[in-house]
Amino acid sequence: MRQVIIIGSGPAGYTAAIYAARANLNPLVVASSVEAGGELMNTTEVENFPGFPEAIMGPDLMAKMQEQAERFGAEVLYDDVVELDIDGPVKKITLGSGGSHEADAVIFATGSAPRKIGIEGESRLSGRGVSYCATCDGFFFRERVIAVVGGGDSAMEEATFLTKFASKVYVIHRRDELRASKIMQDRAFKNEKIEFVWNSEVVDILGEDAVTGIVLQDTVDGSTRELPLDGVFVAIGYDPRTHLVHHKLDLTPEGTVWVDGRSSRTSVPGVFAAGDVIDPTYRQAVTAAGSGTVAALDLEHYLAGLGEAGEPDAAGDQIAGLPEVSTV
Ligand code: NAP
Repeated sequence: MRQVIIIGSGPAGYTAAIYAARANLNPLVVASSVEAGGELMNTTEVENFPGFPEAIMGPDLMAKMQEQAERFGAEVLYDDVVELDIDGPVKKITLGSGGSHEADAVIFATGSAPRKIGIEGESRLSGRGVSYCATCDGFFFRERVIAVVGGGDSAMEEATFLTKFASKVYVIHRRDELRASKIMQDRAFKNEKIEFVWNSEVVDILGEDAVTGIVLQDTVDGSTRELPLDGVFVAIGYDPRTHLVHHKLDLTPEGTVWVDGRSSRTSVPGVFAAGDVIDPTYRQAVTAAGSGTVAALDLEHYLAGLGEAGEPDAAGDQIAGLPEVSTV
């Protein structure tokens, strides 16, 4: 039996692994059978991760994080967790390949996935004009014409942010009123670079190697038309990857895993959560890495407090020297 299993290999999972490995906990990181490294594997240059003034490619950053975790003794498994048994003091994971592992504690860092429109050109041109992250990719659209799809706060925030770079930003929304908060709407309405395209759905994204336009369908009369542009930012919401823990861990109204205040402690003792799966707001590589640190430190204190019976004692429940965190 292990002391720690970490599920997820994004910045939260690998940072938790670095800390847990340096604490001699020999963590097992279950990193996905498809693509280890999380969402940053789909990004090109990462320009806002501190320590890389010349920028670093997303996959290179993740490779370095993995290397750093392995250097201290983390073991990375290219497999998927398909079942999680976390009720008792011994936590058990079952893998897609059929094997299983047990541990005293688990860090759940499965991230979140941007919701996709679900049309053919979207996946084909992803990273070549189709983006899910304005702060990551906006810089590449200087003086270009782009569209933001969505009518919520994310879409308003991204559209407003993108006017720093783009010459024009269309906001494509499927209804004739926005879901976004009034203040975010007003900010977007006042911005002269933003033009709203109402009652419209993106039904195709055009281009061979780069985006050249989109096909819009009117949701009222069904008519279609082409709109030439250089980029499409999809901002129709994010879905935290929580399918493994439904009915096992408490979730928040936003659908993220509930944690106790600023800690990483979930509703189940010995299970900690970190990164995008607990964060409906910031979703940055660096905040996820910080969150992974919190999880590893919480977990260390939990393990240190495990009594003879395998249950946490009072010291293990709370980081010594820190004030009690409030419950959200
Ligand atoms: P959201 O509030 O769920 O809005 C998603 C938007 O995308 C809606 O307008 C929705 O249209 C549209 N949409 C959904 N699926 C679509 C599809 N398949 N095709 C076309 N359009 C689609 O998501 P969000 O904007 O990411 O916000 C998530 C949460 O984070 C919210 O609670 C939000 O307030 C919060 N947030 C806050 C801030 C901030 O305060 N600074 C910034 C970002 C996000 P309908 O309106 O027709 O459903």
